[in-house]
Amino acid sequence: MGLIDIKSMTTEELTALMGEFGQPKFRAKQIFSWLHGGADSFDEMTNLPISLREKLKEECYIACVEIERKLVSALDGTVKYLYRLHDGEYIESVLMSYNHGYTVCISTQVGCRMGCSFCASGLSGKVRDLTASEMLAQIKMAEKDNGIRVSNVVMMGMGEPLDNFENSVRFLRLVSHDDGMNIGLRHISLSTSGVVSGIERLAEENMPITLSISLHAPFDDMRSKMMPVNKKWNVAALIAACKKYQSVTGRRISFEYAMIKDVNDSRECADGLVKLLRGIMCHVNLIPANPVVENNFKRSDDKNVNNFCEYLNSKGVNTTIRRTLGADIDASCGQLRNQKKRRDDNENCK
Ligand code: SAH
Ligand code: SF4
Repeated sequence: MGLIDIKSMTTEELTALMGEFGQPKFRAKQIFSWLHGGADSFDEMTNLPISLREKLKEECYIACVEIERKLVSALDGTVKYLYRLHDGEYIESVLMSYNHGYTVCISTQVGCRMGCSFCASGLSGKVRDLTASEMLAQIKMAEKDNGIRVSNVVMMGMGEPLDNFENSVRFLRLVSHDDGMNIGLRHISLSTSGVVSGIERLAEENMPITLSISLHAPFDDMRSKMMPVNKKWNVAALIAACKKYQSVTGRRISFEYAMIKDVNDSRECADGLVKLLRGIMCHVNLIPANPVVENNFKRSDDKNVNNFCEYLNSKGVNTTIRRTLGADIDASCGQLRNQKKRRDDNENCK
């Protein structure tokens, strides 16, 4: 039987485990605090009896990530990590500094199976889901490596969080727990390519996170070419799910729109967006698209992005342009892992 992933356990599950181990309930809280305070080993848990520490070592493991590569932006201090997981897989995280504190962008899967045409993460499909503990470990490593506290988290790295629903929701519960990292749900954004079934399930959880929708095109033919998920759930189905989500949670929704030259940056697209988003309390984030080595699209000109932004605002759609951080370090997710993969493949060919 495999070892127990103890850092993914809720306090209730840990309490039950302590029962199985013949331990008093209060041990669960002690262990939870150690794990989420950043303990890397059971030996550090000095307020536990040695016999319990030994039992934990036999039965459980503490998930962690190792830094394989680290790039620091000379422009703005953004740090991009390529982390190695226990099974030799690689994921990416980015640490960004804003006036209001530090934000970490975490991955939720190794690779991604959604296959969006402009994205580096999905180029070679999904390898596996990340556990909640592996999501937490990305934040903790960024904190330890920089001696800082993270105040905001965005689930916008590699992977589709709603294609890994249970682990993502488990992560949200754990990271916001008072006895854990205590990062408020209001400080967390979850980004989805439009997995409607997941948006509906998430609404039932009624968590005060920010839901971010990667829209990128207002029309079905255009969006289906860019994002295969649109063939399963089209724009109308996605917008209906957003409206439902908003009526349940009362939360403003964020729409991401990566601007690609001569693809989705026309006036017709802007008008399409205005029509589509009417009646939704929302915010549009325009992202000058990051060219990816494997693709050949170009980002829209700055002037066009500015005009598009002004036009949407003039029509009553609250829109801003996302500040580009880490422009000198390829901060768009998936690229470091692909570089690493290409290098390893070349090594293997020799
Ligand atoms: N799978 C989720 C979350 C991870 S992707 C999703 O798709 O929403 C995070 C964001 O980066 C998404 O908005 C995605 O559309 C965007 N993105 C991916 N590749 C990009 C690129 N080359 N340029 C700009 N944005 C990109
Ligand atoms: Fe996956 Fe998001 Fe990239 Fe699409 S944009 S391939 S859903 S990570």
